[in-house]
Amino acid sequence: MARVFLSAPYMGGNEQKYIKEVFDSNYIAPLGEFVDRFEQSIKDYCQIQNALALNSATAGLHLALRSFGIKDGDVVLASTFTFAASVNPIMYERCEPIFIDCDESWNLSPKLLKEAIAKSPKKPKALILTHLYGQASKMNEIVEICQNENIKLIEDAAEALGGFYDKKALGTFGDAGVYSFNGNKIITTSGGGMLVSKDPNFIAKARYYSTQAREPLLHYEHLDYGYNYRLSNVLGAIGVGQMEVLQDRVERKRQIFDIYSNLLKDIAEFMPEIPNSRGNRWLTTLLFREKNTHLKVIEALNKHDIESRPLWKPMHLQPVFKGAKCIVDGTSEDYFSRGICLPSGADMSDELVEKVANIVRSAL
Ligand SMILES: *Cc1c(COP(=O)(O)O)cnc(C)c1O
Repeated sequence: MARVFLSAPYMGGNEQKYIKEVFDSNYIAPLGEFVDRFEQSIKDYCQIQNALALNSATAGLHLALRSFGIKDGDVVLASTFTFAASVNPIMYERCEPIFIDCDESWNLSPKLLKEAIAKSPKKPKALILTHLYGQASKMNEIVEICQNENIKLIEDAAEALGGFYDKKALGTFGDAGVYSFNGNKIITTSGGGMLVSKDPNFIAKARYYSTQAREPLLHYEHLDYGYNYRLSNVLGAIGVGQMEVLQDRVERKRQIFDIYSNLLKDIAEFMPEIPNSRGNRWLTTLLFREKNTHLKVIEALNKHDIESRPLWKPMHLQPVFKGAKCIVDGTSEDYFSRGICLPSGADMSDELVEKVANIVRSAL
């Protein structure tokens, strides 16, 4: 049997047909009809007015900081319990990160957010908020705090396409949101991202920076410097095909979560779903009671050629961010010391999920 991955790419069927259309039209070159269609399908699904297709979500986060004019020593708040790509763009713009811990939701603690704002040496310009593993953060409180404090809210919904809070798509609450279509995300274009916003001027600015900051003139004229961050039309075609199956993927991921949690709820505590929300359950994640049990389980699964991983190591524990400011209370450190991500590919059969659960149980 082939190795079981955390979340392998899973094509819907129409992707190759759309790629063929791209080839037949010879519009292989950057941009083109399918990039526009992909942006439109995200706008429709997420009910958001503006979208910009990019070659990664990291690029989207970088463009958000750049387009908001956040740079050089500005303070940017961020979830500490996240993947490094959420916060690397803070370094690209030479800003100062302050990492903030999660609470029992596993996502950013509104209480610690207030504390971080109060203790920040300068008024923070932005918050990069991660919806971890596709599950919603406490949006009512976080949006209100950011609005009151005039802090730009940038939602890292890289893992959270298809997740909702109060029936509103994650990624559409703030001033900007990003989605990722990297290989292991809920849908994939092999690599890609999308920046979304209510504000058309912001997206226009990000679009300008994403294509080398070109002035609309016959010759190449530049008043500012930019990037090469756009998505190709070939990958846009994959994206259009994948959007057709997004809702199926969400439903299946949620079923996989239910199977695992029914089988293992007596020995583990699963990532919660906060009231009023419906996450995408991109990965099923859970905590064991004892520290380091997860390492034994990972080893046991690996012997069966099944991939699993510890939870993401918090940013304030990363050597690269040693010395960075953080407002933490030990919650993410505790979760990291005893938590695991189980394989959650939407193409897994019930039997395979049950097999994984049995190996987990017998490893304890
Ligand atoms: C995957 C991921 C990213 C980066 O997405 P790319 O498209 O690979 O740049 C950012 N943040 C989080 C939380 C992620 O999981």
